[in-house]
Amino acid sequence: MKLPLNVDFTGRVAVVTGAGGVLCSCMSKALAAAGAKVALLDINQEAVQAVVEEILADGGDAIAVKCDILNEEEIQKAHETVLEKYGRTNILINGAGGNNPRCTTTSEVFEKSQLGNEKTFFDLDQDGFRFVFDINFTGEFMVTKEFAKDMLDGGNNSILNIASVNTYLPLTKIPAYAAAKEAVGNFTKWLAMYFSKSGIRVNAIAPGFLSTHQTKALFYEADGVTPTPRLGKIIEGTPMKRLGKPEELLGAVLFLLDEEASGFITGAILPVDGGYTAYSGV
Ligand code: NAD
Repeated sequence: MKLPLNVDFTGRVAVVTGAGGVLCSCMSKALAAAGAKVALLDINQEAVQAVVEEILADGGDAIAVKCDILNEEEIQKAHETVLEKYGRTNILINGAGGNNPRCTTTSEVFEKSQLGNEKTFFDLDQDGFRFVFDINFTGEFMVTKEFAKDMLDGGNNSILNIASVNTYLPLTKIPAYAAAKEAVGNFTKWLAMYFSKSGIRVNAIAPGFLSTHQTKALFYEADGVTPTPRLGKIIEGTPMKRLGKPEELLGAVLFLLDEEASGFITGAILPVDGGYTAYSGV
């Protein structure tokens, strides 16, 4: 794999959650190509196993670990597995997350005539809200609490969270996801301050709109090819007038994880969004 930055993570151990997904599988492969030993955690064991096989075939070192980031016992077990195999953690990417229809409204703006005819704010329930919020935020707290214990030796350790354009301004229809991603940004800064004397840098990237399977239903009608009106608005709001590609996150990821490149950066949230968060729409 050709990396966008010349970094060397030889001898370092990286733990990546959501590593079976589109973005974090790409990041895991990049970390392995940079020399790191990578533990790929995901609730979907088959998905991470497939990525691990690719990494091994390319000469990298990686393990697949089944882990639900909302289950404390599974997180502790995953940590034990990482310690047995690699001895410690230097890098943590909190990547598991995503929206879910359980906490999505049909329309962007409420009108009384929608009541009983479509899913409004008043039809969202606590379970759905909590599910989406927890996957995107509370899980990150729990995983960080467990794996940051390995990073208390005073130097060259790094945590990277995955924020979103929602970290700056909420997108319509997805209140729990938007709130959780704003919380991710806030928590990134909180952790950065808290661990500032411990040699743990904590940063985030805020990806804009990328073409992945998670966003497919948002961007294309049921036929899979006709763009939705929402995709039209997204492209209109993105100064570069296109979706991003997962590989376009790698420069920011490697930069923020590399001590030589960004050793004085902590608490930063770096947008990688084609200018989306720089544009007011007017
Ligand atoms: P994805 O759906 O491809 O991957 C998410 C992965 O997380 C999946 O492999 C899934 O199995 C795993 N996962 C879900 N619940 C889990 C749990 N409880 N425990 C452990 N693993 C779990 O999504 P993606 O597009 O690669 O997104 C990765 C991250 O980037 C997410 O945090 C997402 O919110 C964020 N993000 C994505 C975009 C985008 O455009 N795709 C934009 C901004 C931010």
